[in-house]
Amino acid sequence: MNKPKVIVRPGVTVTLGFFDFLLTSLGVKHMKKLTCKAMGTECHFEATGQTAEEVKNKMVEHAKTDHAEMFNKMSDSEKEGMMKMMDEKMEDA
Ligand SMILES: [Zn+2]
Repeated sequence: MNKPKVIVRPGVTVTLGFFDFLLTSLGVKHMKKLTCKAMGTECHFEATGQTAEEVKNKMVEHAKTDHAEMFNKMSDSEKEGMMKMMDEKMEDA
């Protein structure tokens, strides 16, 4: 995956991912989290990340492995609804 690059000064470029990391470590930018419980399960899994995208990817991976039975039964529109719900239930960690 190509991350967008930012030119700091001529000859110096860093990826946006680096800024995310920097801001998070400085406490300027907060981590995001999403609990599986907020999604309506009794599960204690919690996905965290620096971006909503990262958190959602982790949650989908978790659903695929730990809730495979439920996940496989879901239709495409149900999965779409799940993605929307993840955005709504996401909170600052
Ligand atoms: Zn879970």
